[in-house]
Amino acid sequence: MLREIFGRRRKKGDKPNEQSKAEVPEGLMHKCTGCHKIYYRKEMKNNLYICPNCDYHEPMYAWRRIDSLFDPDSFIEWDKHLQTSNPLNFPDYEEKLAGDQKKTKLKEAVVTGKGTIAGYMTAFAVMDARFRMGSMGSVVGEKIARAIERAKDEAIPFIIFTASGGARMQEGVLSLMQMTKTSMAIERFSENGGLMVSVMTHPTTGGVSASFASLGDYNIAEPRALIGFAGRRIIEQTIREKLPDDFQTAEFLLKHGQLDKVVHRHEMKQFLTTLLKLHQKGGDKS
Ligand SMILES: [Zn+2]
Repeated sequence: MLREIFGRRRKKGDKPNEQSKAEVPEGLMHKCTGCHKIYYRKEMKNNLYICPNCDYHEPMYAWRRIDSLFDPDSFIEWDKHLQTSNPLNFPDYEEKLAGDQKKTKLKEAVVTGKGTIAGYMTAFAVMDARFRMGSMGSVVGEKIARAIERAKDEAIPFIIFTASGGARMQEGVLSLMQMTKTSMAIERFSENGGLMVSVMTHPTTGGVSASFASLGDYNIAEPRALIGFAGRRIIEQTIREKLPDDFQTAEFLLKHGQLDKVVHRHEMKQFLTTLLKLHQKGGDKS
């Protein structure tokens, strides 16, 4: 079986050629971003897309994450068909959106809804970095704001998993306005006594890190996630200083008080269950 996948055994000094590359079936294997070891995709899937060798947390598709956390068949999706037009007539934007929709089978870069985690009902938004790098266009902002409003009306908590390159350049100022819109929705939700948990996953940057991602009652992150506003090089050039190697990682932010906890993906469900249990009406009675 392995020989079929990798082709004939290479002799010393042999260089890989186009043919041997073609013999690795597309989609069957996965090369770890952290340590470059190769695994069966199935093995990665069973391990929640965490490398068994170096513990690197690969980005997770929105629906895979939802499936890994929510009780089976408990999830109801909201605003499924909401999709972006091209408000600024930005060249080629529609083609790019159509391409991402085909690739991801999503209408936009975020999935929202509600469902139960270990029996506790919660509203939910999970971003998918494959869609325009998870950038925040007007529909992403609108879906998140609506999910928060619904969570307020139904008096249930709100959990968001962020993964984003920041604002969406094709929507210019309309994209930046989403920072205010989502922040205002969170403020109203919070005044009403709602619980919001923000889980930052790799990467959470730009306007997303500077708005709703940082506004949770609990701000947590996955290990080694890149979290920051401006890029490392820009900051180094501006302040003319070399930044530490772990700058803008989840662990660095935890050390400097910007995060409450770094939670391993294997422990995420248990951690969220504990928070939901503690914050249910009347508190945890067990
Ligand atoms: Zn690895």
